[in-house]
Amino acid sequence: MRFETLAIHAGQSHDPVYGAVMTPIYQTSTFAFKGVNQPREFDYSRSGNPTRKALEDCLAALENGTAGFVFATGMAAEATILELCGSGDHLVVHDDLYGGTYRLLVNVTRRHGVEVDFVNLRDLDLFRKSIRPNTKAVWTETPTNPLMNLLDLRAIAEIARERGLTTICDNTFLSPYFQRPLELGIDVVVHSTTKYINGHSDVVGGAIIVKDAGLAQQIKFLQNAMGTCAGPQDCFLVLRGVKTLGVRMEAHNRNALALAHWLEAHPKVERVLHPGLESHPQHELARRQMSGYGGTFSFCVKGAEQEAFRLLGAVKLFTLAESLGGVESLIEHPWSMTHASMPEEVRAAMGITGNMIRISVGIEHIDDQIADLEQAFGKV
Ligand SMILES: *Cc1c(COP(=O)(O)O)cnc(C)c1O
Repeated sequence: MRFETLAIHAGQSHDPVYGAVMTPIYQTSTFAFKGVNQPREFDYSRSGNPTRKALEDCLAALENGTAGFVFATGMAAEATILELCGSGDHLVVHDDLYGGTYRLLVNVTRRHGVEVDFVNLRDLDLFRKSIRPNTKAVWTETPTNPLMNLLDLRAIAEIARERGLTTICDNTFLSPYFQRPLELGIDVVVHSTTKYINGHSDVVGGAIIVKDAGLAQQIKFLQNAMGTCAGPQDCFLVLRGVKTLGVRMEAHNRNALALAHWLEAHPKVERVLHPGLESHPQHELARRQMSGYGGTFSFCVKGAEQEAFRLLGAVKLFTLAESLGGVESLIEHPWSMTHASMPEEVRAAMGITGNMIRISVGIEHIDDQIADLEQAFGKV
């Protein structure tokens, strides 16, 4: 079945008792045994829960994997998968990534004795040179946040496979609707379902999807042992949100591309970072690897932080807030907000600047979005 159909039906069947069309919220911690030594399919909700299973199976189908796992937050998913690495292992990580992932790797993973190296994985020679005998895995994110740089997932997966490394990709920005890393040879897909997959800014959640049965078994073990799973109420909400993923992503993509073109022509804009623009240095890779560009991108206003702050203070329809991927438009300042958890020199080295603004373009009418930014630019 096609993506739009799977998003609505995969992992879900009518409730066997009443025929409820939506999967019920099985808000229970435990399940009665049929008899002594006779557990049912589920015995305790940390180990498994029917509402959670419906979402896990649905996401596995959407990423074209064989097993899915959902977690309390995106960071809980990341913390769980990082437990595949232990003391003495080496992990290669792309040097331009979500601020929370950077903080987890530097302040938690390294404390566990894992050697973490940040490498620019757009340079495949640098990647090859960074691999050591104890390298266990490579962590990618594409497009990156907020710089909208892309990684060639197929090429990275090929090099990693030759060297026996596990490849991980944070696919939050595009969702499986526009990019399916497992089909490009990546081993593990990670999501913050808080963003596009849920899409309604009312849940925090995370997911891991894999194809390999051995990896699935290890993640299932870790999810239960660490207790990082999502609760049934949150799973229900994400399950509802994901049903419209396809139509929402089309609308986000259309609006964001239109806004990117409009901003690129605006006299108060220095540059626009959007992989769908021909001015993007990796536009060709974007067209090859992704089937759309998503709804989040960045631009730099002419001037400095002061000019960016004036624009941020003047918007009305766009809400000044962190996060992305919801139906409503959000706007934020990476330097002082989402990426403040990175040391200043790391932010600067990445290329984040004070005049940079990131927008998560919602699915309101494009004319209203443009009108709001136009009036806000009037105050800059
Ligand atoms: C938000 C986000 C995360 C973290 O997810 P939470 O649900 O906030 O814990 C990880 N990676 C990316 C790319 C994100 O945007």
